[in-house]
This record gives sequence, structure tokens and C-alpha cells, in this order.
Amino acid sequence: MKRLLIRSLMQSVFVVGLLLSSIATASNFPTEEPMGGEPFGHSVKNIGDGLYVFRWWVYRNIFMVTDEGVIVTDPINPKAANLLLGEIRKITDKPVKYVVYSHNHHDHISGGMVFKDKGATFIAHKNVLKELGDHPSPATPLPDITFEDEYTVQLGGRTLELKYFGPNHGESLVVMRLPKEKILFIVDIVTPRRVAFRTMPDFWPDEWIRSLKEIEQMDFDYIISGHGPTNQPAIDPGTVVAEQRIYLEDLMAAVKAEFDKGTHSPDKLRQIVKLPKYKDWRSYNEYLPMNIERIWAYYHMGW
Ligand SMILES: [Zn+2]
Repeated sequence: MKRLLIRSLMQSVFVVGLLLSSIATASNFPTEEPMGGEPFGHSVKNIGDGLYVFRWWVYRNIFMVTDEGVIVTDPINPKAANLLLGEIRKITDKPVKYVVYSHNHHDHISGGMVFKDKGATFIAHKNVLKELGDHPSPATPLPDITFEDEYTVQLGGRTLELKYFGPNHGESLVVMRLPKEKILFIVDIVTPRRVAFRTMPDFWPDEWIRSLKEIEQMDFDYIISGHGPTNQPAIDPGTVVAEQRIYLEDLMAAVKAEFDKGTHSPDKLRQIVKLPKYKDWRSYNEYLPMNIERIWAYYHMGW
């Protein structure tokens, strides 16, 4: 009887052990569950240990809550930043210690004063100082800490690695990596399952492709994108980085092929070039002709 009990106990331990190991090896992050919320509102998703994705309209950032304070990325704009602070206050009363800018563009970072007023330290690539000097925005505090190639933010046992890949979208964009979860937070240069944004403002097509190839070599399993509407997941498998690069390569090759046949009119190229492989990607009909015009400029002007 006693032996039987021990045996069944052993079996239960084995089953529990199996369960635990399958939980540990299975995907820890929901990669299909939509971000949710009202399309023109905001939403928050907790996707791991103190790790959150915040969405305002089609803009997103991540924030990390630790015992020693909070790390916030891209404060978006004053309205979004106030909503973000409200959401952080529902989770913790610890101070926001650091705000990290992904790049210099005002549409992603002009809510910084909300956190500056409460004493946060701002971190960005050094070129953000120059860009914000050339194009100042009163709602956007200048970074307190800048760096050239890499920087590591550490707080309350959390690590956020920042890495610069040179010009690609502007000249100050950094990719953020969470080493524990093997997640990258990437703004503007990877937007899953969507063609490139309009006429690709401040994007350098060849440098963009080069940067994505280098990013693909990093150690990561998941990405969180700086853009995505309510029906898109908060987090995606890392394969979307290569998908974005291949889209750009296909776009450039298709425009180049027509260009080499003698079609040099951007208006004609917009009508002729199609990429049916991507017809189900978001904004295909609306943005593809604009993407084509940008690539026309690349081949026509070398820019
Ligand atoms: Zn941008």
C-alpha cells in the first residue's frame, strides 16, 4: 500500500515536471492575440514579467516596471504620454526613472515633458541632440545621456540594450533588446505585414535593407513594433524582420526592372509595378504607389 502511494506520488511528480518543462519551452508570449482597445483610443498589454506594450492609435511603445522604478520608451506625444502615465500609476507608484527615445522624430517622442517634469532621465543616440537642435520641439526634452554605438540601461534587475546601426530611418534610430526575453523593440523600420509607410519619409532604402540584415543577426525570438492598429498583435515572431527586408528587396527589384526597360516616369511606374505577393499586407493599395515613387527617386537621383 505504502509502496503504491509512493509510486503514484512519483508519477504525479513526473507529470507535474513534464507540464512545467513544456510550459518553460513553449512560446511564452501571445503572438496572435490582438492588442485590443478602441481604434482611436489606447490600450495596454502585459506580456511578461513587468513588461508592457502601450498603444495609442497606431503608435506603440514598451515600458518596464521594476522594484526600483519604471523604464519608459518613446513618449509619443503629450496626450498619449499622459494616458501612459495614468496606466503606469494603475500598476505601480514607483517613479519613471528613464525615458529612452527610439529616434528623433517628433511623432514618436514629443510627450517627454510629462516625464521630465517628474524627474526622469532621458537617453538617446547622440544624433538626436543634433536633430532636435536643428528642429526643436518645446514638448520634447533633450536627452541627458547620449551614446554612439551601444548603451545598456539597467534598473531593478532589468536590462534594456540599445544599439545603433547607422543611418536607415534618419540618423539616430536605435533598436532596443530585452536580453532575458530575447525581444527586440523596433520602431518604424519594421512594421509587420504592412508595406512601407507612404513615400517612406526619412527612409534611406539601401541603408534600411543593410540595417535589417544586421538586425537579423542579433539574438532574438520576438519583436514588438512601434506601429500597429488595435487588431494587430502586441508581439510578433522574430521572422517579421526578414519579411520586412524581403519586401523592400522585392520592391526595389520590381521598380529597377521597369526602370531598366526604359520606364523613367514615376507616374507610369506607379501604375505598372505590382507586388501581388503582398496584396494582403496592410495599406497595399494605398501605399504601394507611394513606395514605388520613393524607389523611383532612389534610382533616378541616387538618393
Ligand atoms: Zn520615424
